[in-house]
Amino acid sequence: MNAASAYLDHNATSPLRPVAFDAMAEALKAGGNPSSVHRSGRAARARVDAARRQVAALVGAMPSEIVFTSGGTEANNLAITGTGCMRVLVSAVEHDSVRKAAPDAEIIPVDGNGVIVLGALERLLAASKAPTLVSVMFANNETGVLQPIADVVRLARATGALVHCDAVQGAGKASVDLHGLGVDYLSLSAHKFGGPSGIGALVVRGNAPFVTDRRGGGQEFNRRAGTENVAGIAGFGAASEAARGGLDVAALRDRLETALKEIAPDVQVFGAGAPRLGNTVCISMPGVRAETQVMALDLAGVCVSAGAACSSGKVTRSPVLTAMGIDPAVADSALRISFGWNSQSEDIERLIAAWRDLYTRVNNSDIAHAQAA
Ligand code: PLP
Repeated sequence: MNAASAYLDHNATSPLRPVAFDAMAEALKAGGNPSSVHRSGRAARARVDAARRQVAALVGAMPSEIVFTSGGTEANNLAITGTGCMRVLVSAVEHDSVRKAAPDAEIIPVDGNGVIVLGALERLLAASKAPTLVSVMFANNETGVLQPIADVVRLARATGALVHCDAVQGAGKASVDLHGLGVDYLSLSAHKFGGPSGIGALVVRGNAPFVTDRRGGGQEFNRRAGTENVAGIAGFGAASEAARGGLDVAALRDRLETALKEIAPDVQVFGAGAPRLGNTVCISMPGVRAETQVMALDLAGVCVSAGAACSSGKVTRSPVLTAMGIDPAVADSALRISFGWNSQSEDIERLIAAWRDLYTRVNNSDIAHAQAA
């Protein structure tokens, strides 16, 4: 990233792309309320409409299917509450913004790689005739593991269930296509791929049922009341256009994993047996708690995270790794490294050097302890 630090925590938030910054600065300078009929309002409306087309193009949707929200969390909340389904099925590895929005949901278990068990989903779907929403994420925020969304849609359709997919970690990194996937609802968040934080979208396919709980003006086609965040939306649009080609970082991931396995042959890469995003590595340093690693790497100028950063600094055992059946002691040593649009091989080399240094220090002190004992 730069000489001062290597930022490898893009799944927490990705630095703002210059094109997004420029689009936001222009929108902020121009001002205007998109609902006003005068020229200032019309110019703001034009910005919002242009960004709506850019975001729609990123995920193969129609502009009219995009509902701008304050981010991925609100998009997930709106999807869970907006379908009118009495029954909700969610995977065991969903983000808290899905899990907590559906506290009574029935849980679809995952296997040791974190991939949902399709047979279990099939049984859950067959168990009730109540209108059902299935919510399964596109890619996991901690491991990068991809879910078999096409299979989820096939099984759901067979029983008339609706499907929501939290694509917050997939969009802009891998190819995400609303109609190709066949889902009814898709959640997006700009700050995961170089747009600003505080802006996202719920994509509602065609005529999929959707009843909003937002009361107020008729913004977003009566689906999300409140004056639009024009600058955020403009930045989201610009970042979406820039991210359309996806991320080409799998070679960096492979280099990193190979190097860390050479340093410590007993490392475990979580989800390695399943298809994964090219930008995410979730790996254990045996015997060293993740917080210790994060702090040591930070001192060496490398920014990474332990488990899900969304729980604001709180380090609790990862529910994702727990659902995958990972031994608690191993899960507590899991580090998440995630690349993005501005990651370079120097960042990876810096991380490898710092990780080697920490591993050597820890193991030498272990030997020293053993010898002293
Ligand atoms: N869904 C997933 C998979 C995430 O990783 C996150 C954030 O980390 C969210 C939803 C929430 O998105 P936002 O930060 O835009 O509210």
